[in-house]
Amino acid sequence: MRLDTFEAGIDRIYTIFGMSRKPSKDMQLVWYTRLDHIPDEAVNFIVEQICDLESMPRNMTVAWKNYWSNWKTANPSKIVRQDCPHCRNTGARDCWARPEDGGQWMHFMTPCPVCQQNETRMPMPLAELEAKGAVIMPVDYRGGPVGFDRDNGFGCLHPVSLDTSTPRKTMHVGVNMKQDFKRVRHLPAGEREEYGKSSNW
Ligand SMILES: [Zn+2]
Repeated sequence: MRLDTFEAGIDRIYTIFGMSRKPSKDMQLVWYTRLDHIPDEAVNFIVEQICDLESMPRNMTVAWKNYWSNWKTANPSKIVRQDCPHCRNTGARDCWARPEDGGQWMHFMTPCPVCQQNETRMPMPLAELEAKGAVIMPVDYRGGPVGFDRDNGFGCLHPVSLDTSTPRKTMHVGVNMKQDFKRVRHLPAGEREEYGKSSNW
């Protein structure tokens, strides 16, 4: 929520309880930093609940947090994750890259940098991946990843040898392929080998 929304709410609470001495701006700012994750639209609800109490809550921020919980319970549909048009809510993007020493193109997924970031995770921006030579599929590509793979001649998801209509690209790019390795390293060695074969048709 915005600071002025919060300050107006505090002002109303103090007025209702007949407190002529309002908390200092500094105090309000301290409270605000503990509560700024609460959205504007929940403020009226919280303030009204507090105004209905017998007396002014001793711990203002705890009171706000409690009624914020109540608001979330009362409005479950409003706290679902926002729709992400960048990945069509899959949470990931399809990418292709070639190891620095040439060789086969490989397909890998990267977390959607728009909706999959939080305090502990900051996915690599797509522009940065592209700068390293990766090719990222547009989100609404016709034919999906297999079609994109085929149309670009990557040969990871589509058997290139069976398709002579598109010449195979020979771009030379350098991308760290660790992510892809992470996906297969839990497989037993035999299966991992199979995986390698199947992606090298
Ligand atoms: Zn997304």
